Amino acid sequence: MTLNISSAFDGGNILVKDASDPSNVRLEIRKDNESDFYQWFYFRVTGERGQDIRLIIENAGGAAYPKGWDDYNAVVSYDLMEWKRVPTRYDGQALTIETTLSRDAVYLAYFAPYPSDRHAQLVAGAQSSGAAKVSILGQTLDGRDLDLITIGEPAEGKPTLWITARQHPGETMAEWWMEGFLERLLDLTDEMAMKLREQAVLYVVPNMNPDGSARGHLRTNAAGVNLNREWQSPSMEKSPEVFLVLEEMKKNGVDFALDVHGDEAIPYNFIAGTEGIPSWTDKQAALLNGFSHAYVASSGGEFQTKYGYPKNKPGQANLTICNNAVAEKFDCLAMTLEMPFKDNAELPDERFGWSPPRSKRLGANVIDAILTVLPDLR
Ligand SMILES: [Zn+2]
Repeated sequence: MTLNISSAFDGGNILVKDASDPSNVRLEIRKDNESDFYQWFYFRVTGERGQDIRLIIENAGGAAYPKGWDDYNAVVSYDLMEWKRVPTRYDGQALTIETTLSRDAVYLAYFAPYPSDRHAQLVAGAQSSGAAKVSILGQTLDGRDLDLITIGEPAEGKPTLWITARQHPGETMAEWWMEGFLERLLDLTDEMAMKLREQAVLYVVPNMNPDGSARGHLRTNAAGVNLNREWQSPSMEKSPEVFLVLEEMKKNGVDFALDVHGDEAIPYNFIAGTEGIPSWTDKQAALLNGFSHAYVASSGGEFQTKYGYPKNKPGQANLTICNNAVAEKFDCLAMTLEMPFKDNAELPDERFGWSPPRSKRLGANVIDAILTVLPDLR
């Protein structure tokens, strides 16, 4: 039986070259609009229960991070709730995914998607908790709302915390992390969360790039702009998402910034600091060290400090990147958190790999780590 393949839905991305032979389905990943970046895929295959299928993504070798395909397994779901890993092979050029349809229709993706309607639910749930204020920073180029969730009452001497996620829309684990973080932060029975809500003001942007998310992009917004290279001089024409957040940061200040991402290649959870900024201080170094160690302790071994990006040499930081720009401008602790697309190699899980539940747990566990450094932020 011939397969039907579609991606005309929120976050969908695939180009079908030839689906006439279920054992040799030829596919390509579509590039982000007005950009050469691509790696995110998400599509639905409809066939017949029991059918073996072999899907070949022929342009995988030209993706943004080909190293991301080594030891990588794609995820599939039949119920759009649980996403399991399936055997996936990379030969240096094409990515081959093989599976048997255990139901008639299956969804396949690069990582468990975080759809726009789930984002809407996340924001609606936050305001329903009674512990958060929802507002809109402005509109994106496609006319979507850029949502801001504010927790805690501003007061003299209280530290101001910014938590942002998903500048790179294909890094959906970042919004799964946000969901876990917000669920715990807004849990009225959690003592640590209560402490944080009382002692700080938190500005949370759960999705920095709603257009790219809906369009099924890997890395850019509607105009093909990589938002995490826009922090030096963002504009309303090209990067309103960054422009609007930065304006709000200038209004309210920043004492702590955590920008949440996923890394295609490295199979660990890690933080990139801002050691290379011109104004790097011993205080920033001590805060980064304190936070990192507290996160190792609170995350049950999921977060670690051994593996990650090489540190920037003094003065060599790229100031167009969010964490560097914010640390330099506001003289604060600013960090990029990276989670794996593959798995945490220190705690491997063959069935699910790195997953939404693990991302959510890591998001919830950050609260203890933030509380550890909170008294020293100002
Ligand atoms: Zn990223």
